[in-house]
Amino acid sequence: MLKNRSQANILYIDLSKKDYYIKNRPELLDKYIGGTGIAAQLLLEECPEGCDPLSPESPIILAVGPLTPFFPLASKTVALFKSPLTGNLGESHCGGRSAISIASAQLTAIVIKGKSKKPVFLTIDNERVYFKDATTLWGMDSNFTTGRILRQHEKGSGIRTIMRIGKGGENKVLFSGVNVETFRHFGRLGLGAVFGSKHLKALVITGQSTLEVTDNKEYKKVYKEIYETATESKLMNKYHDLGTAGNVKGLSDLGGLPTRNLQSGSFEKADDISGESFAKEHLGRRLACSHCPVGCIHVATLREPDPNDPFFFKTSMIGYDYEPIFAAGSMLGIHEKKGFLRLVHKIDSYGLDVMSAGVAMGWATEALEKGVITEKETQLKLKFGDWKTYRECVKKIVDRENDFYEHLAQGVEIASDKYGGKEFAMAFGKNEMAGYHTGPAAHIGLIIGSRHSHLDNGGYSMDQSELMKKLLPPEEVVDKLYEEEAWRQILSSLVVCFFARGIYSKELVTKTLALVGLDFAENDLMDVGNKILALKHKFKLREGFKFSDVRLPERIFETPTPVKNWDRKYIEDALAHADKFMQKNA
Ligand code: SF4
Repeated sequence: MLKNRSQANILYIDLSKKDYYIKNRPELLDKYIGGTGIAAQLLLEECPEGCDPLSPESPIILAVGPLTPFFPLASKTVALFKSPLTGNLGESHCGGRSAISIASAQLTAIVIKGKSKKPVFLTIDNERVYFKDATTLWGMDSNFTTGRILRQHEKGSGIRTIMRIGKGGENKVLFSGVNVETFRHFGRLGLGAVFGSKHLKALVITGQSTLEVTDNKEYKKVYKEIYETATESKLMNKYHDLGTAGNVKGLSDLGGLPTRNLQSGSFEKADDISGESFAKEHLGRRLACSHCPVGCIHVATLREPDPNDPFFFKTSMIGYDYEPIFAAGSMLGIHEKKGFLRLVHKIDSYGLDVMSAGVAMGWATEALEKGVITEKETQLKLKFGDWKTYRECVKKIVDRENDFYEHLAQGVEIASDKYGGKEFAMAFGKNEMAGYHTGPAAHIGLIIGSRHSHLDNGGYSMDQSELMKKLLPPEEVVDKLYEEEAWRQILSSLVVCFFARGIYSKELVTKTLALVGLDFAENDLMDVGNKILALKHKFKLREGFKFSDVRLPERIFETPTPVKNWDRKYIEDALAHADKFMQKNA
């Protein structure tokens, strides 16, 4: 039995009525653990079939896991929603102080529906919800300013999270995200647009509850074990030292780093934007999500002279890791670190997903070069490497400045449907690609993953560890990816950081869950993972989604990858097999 009753509290908020209530639902945790497991069940319950993701009925679900705030690296919150970008399941994970704040407010999940008449922000404080006027925050150019104002005016610093959207979300750019604290995001699949459609500018969540474990002595022992593995293992050191940016050079050498809209898999200037180079010239500080002893968040300092005062310098702090470096660096042919940082800062201040924004601008640049579109559409001379023009382009996307940007704000697949250049529009199922062109498993993994993220399964690492040696039949690749994805459902339900996946073994998961009063036998965990995956597949099928309907841009077959001898048919066979798996599993 759950040791703390509050760990099963679900807060339901109706923005239209400015009303809320809490329901205690321990049966959800007994069945689906927490996090993504309970969020998937809540999504099925709360999201009407076929609903418009930007309608008031469309829910936002935020959930934390039962190990928060007890164990290191159980530091994440999961958001589930119907994605306005893809039209099916949207899932995004975020750290910062989000998870610990929600758990400390005596909640395990928050369901938000409805639409406020006026812009609003919510303060959630120990099970109470306050609806506050956000009219003056709406329309601000920088969501960093919004964050600063909320930090200064809202109480509860310490265990408090501030989630907010920028102009991108307000204007319902379909790939806008939600910024959390300053350097963390619910980045992918358009959660920002869902917030915007509800006139929900921000959430401030705080709490001071006390929670108990079932056995204090055992708790201290297990805690120490996790803490020591996290701080002493080589793998985690890597995340701390250079962070994921440390992969840039290696992937480029291998030929797996998408460059200039994937016209190449190697960037001749990869050294300039490598993790090593950023660390040497710009690394200002490393940060950690709450209750994480690793600290993988790398923040660069950018010191620039004030154009009006030669003796005055402005210093900006800008987060970077592998994905932004791919999307706003190599994908756009940008190698100047300062230019890259200024572009990322711009994208971030508008609250856009940097991955989708970079891929969208990469397509627009190539389309312009090839004459598929003209400057009449872009109003800019987009050129690979020209970060200044890309900064202007970001503003035009956010403002949906003309018909072209109106389409680009809906993602690269919609834009290429209208204007052409589909063969080099780098999206799968309307979601822009991730930064891996390592081989077929990276692309298959992104497509068949329930949320279409490179984090659903390790397709990109399977390319490097297995397929580079021997190409497996596509069906076998799919089966292996699904097996891994089922296990990742457990990690996502806890919700631990995926960087800790080497630490949280089946044995440890069972032990830690027992300490909060949840009984899951080691041998049953994979079944539970498959059940959670089935919930997601059920949602996707219900919304009419099929993997084999996903458009495959010709470019992925043209640009060589480190894995050789695969083609369109190989991917199509894999997707047909994945469809069968999904049908059976749901
Ligand atoms: S390893 Fe990084 S992303 Fe993961 S919890 Fe720690 S700081 Fe956050």
